[in-house]
Amino acid sequence: MTRGSVRYDDLSLVTMAKSALNYLRGNPEPARNYECKFSLGPLGIPAHVPLLPPNTDGFDPIALGDTDCRMDWQYPHMRAMAGERVPDNVELGVRRRVHSYQHADGLLWMTPAAWGGTLQAPSVLEGLKHKWASSWASGKWLISLTEEYDRTGDKRFAEEARAVFLALAKLLYWDGKRAYLPYGTAPWRNGEWLHMRDSDKSSGWGGEHSHNYPFIVEPMVRYWECCGDDEALQLARAIADGHLDCVQPEMDELRIDPQTGRFARHVHLHTHEIWGVAHLGVVTGEARYMDWAGRAYRFVVSQGTDYGWYPEYIPQPEYRSEICVVGDMTSIAACLARGGQPEHWDQVERNVRNILRHSQFSLTPAFVALFRKIHHGRPQAEVEQALAELRKLEGGFVAQPAFDEWVGFPGPNMGAPGLYANGIQMMGCCPPEGMRGLWEAWQGIVQERTEGVFVNLAFSREHAAANVTAYEPAAGRLDVQARRAGSYFLRPPTWAEPATVTLCRDDADSRIEWGGPANAYVVCRAVRSGEQLRLGWPVPRFTQVFVPQSVPGRSEKLTVHWLGNKVLGVEPRGQYLPMFEDGR
Ligand SMILES: [Zn+2]
Repeated sequence: MTRGSVRYDDLSLVTMAKSALNYLRGNPEPARNYECKFSLGPLGIPAHVPLLPPNTDGFDPIALGDTDCRMDWQYPHMRAMAGERVPDNVELGVRRRVHSYQHADGLLWMTPAAWGGTLQAPSVLEGLKHKWASSWASGKWLISLTEEYDRTGDKRFAEEARAVFLALAKLLYWDGKRAYLPYGTAPWRNGEWLHMRDSDKSSGWGGEHSHNYPFIVEPMVRYWECCGDDEALQLARAIADGHLDCVQPEMDELRIDPQTGRFARHVHLHTHEIWGVAHLGVVTGEARYMDWAGRAYRFVVSQGTDYGWYPEYIPQPEYRSEICVVGDMTSIAACLARGGQPEHWDQVERNVRNILRHSQFSLTPAFVALFRKIHHGRPQAEVEQALAELRKLEGGFVAQPAFDEWVGFPGPNMGAPGLYANGIQMMGCCPPEGMRGLWEAWQGIVQERTEGVFVNLAFSREHAAANVTAYEPAAGRLDVQARRAGSYFLRPPTWAEPATVTLCRDDADSRIEWGGPANAYVVCRAVRSGEQLRLGWPVPRFTQVFVPQSVPGRSEKLTVHWLGNKVLGVEPRGQYLPMFEDGR
């Protein structure tokens, strides 16, 4: 689509959300009571092979209390973006499943495969015979209930949310006025924690996660934000103060250095909690929370790229990302932006425009060609059937892309079934977290504040306060149709030289007045409803060369070709299914 000689932006968040709904509805298995799939490897036949052995509670037991809880959040978000008002049976089924984990004590209980690791340690094997309460799953359920109250105004959801909040509060330990969970995300049962020593390598990721940060501040802040329970805000402060003052024991190198933001190991277990502290900074206006979150955020950026690729581990044996981290980093960037640092909206745009857009899974001609090639020895009907099944996963996200490549795990057995063996890792935690990144961007485009209507991002959206039309990144142009009278604040990219920014009001050149947080906005006063505002800026085309961090001992340079916030190409180029094809 074009307007004059300038083309509209071909990125549509609405289209991405509609595609995401296809995945959210295609992943759960109705015949297994809407159990969700974690272990997805789309180049394999079949694409779904459980990483851990099935047990009495689940066929792919890692999904329980993790993948399903994450997906439960995103159905309503993606429907809101796509303009669908009514939940379908799959959404209702997943909601019922997650609700069924809740016991009378308010907490969610399940077989803790998601926290158990690879099941080798005797203590883990014994523990997995029981159901355990999960603060991780319960915190996610607290947000689900809270947002359901926010959407419907039905007080029963607020009351149920308070019960979960009180149950979570009982799990906390205290150090003076600071609160903490002693073993991070470790499950709890009858006063015991299923924690594993990291030195016991056979305990896998469970050993590490039970000494990492919990996921607790964001649920408390979000619950307070929607339900107004001041006890939750006080508790969020107490927990965040514990993080800032390092009261959780036995964290060792997993601890975030309060001075530098540096930490080691699994990144998502850190960024998921940093997000909550950043959010707490926004709602309280307290700089120390923003500063702590900002330092850790910048450390993660320093270990990744500027276009939204962040490492799964620091350090790690090869360059692998995790879309869960991209979702978290997008949420943290949005919080920092809302908290008075609007330049971070540019990073929100870069994450969505580059990584999330190009890792959203679909049966592209290149994927189908590769699929047929590696399965050329199989009967054609079997290959066609497998491709038809894969349609259900379209709209999910490739979980571990390399810098410019869907195939993060190439090898001689590419196409063999298995989460890693097939070549494209698509673990179920990641697709809904990628969707959270889309949701953050969608909510950030137009922001209504007491000073007026803010347009923060160059993405198209029809909003009650403004119709925003984005143009292709090369155009350096954003059109805003005001839908009410008052002041409008339009943000050009941070890198745009202020003297070169232009404003037209109803096609007439207008004087530029800067204002808003950090003086980052072009202010339009006394705007009429229906008035057309047009913001313009010159767009730089440049090349960035750097040595990616996160893999010790490797020093190969990465070259990124940029057009404003858009990546045109990356070198070395992906070998099998490159992500950036727009030319160099
Ligand atoms: Zn993930």
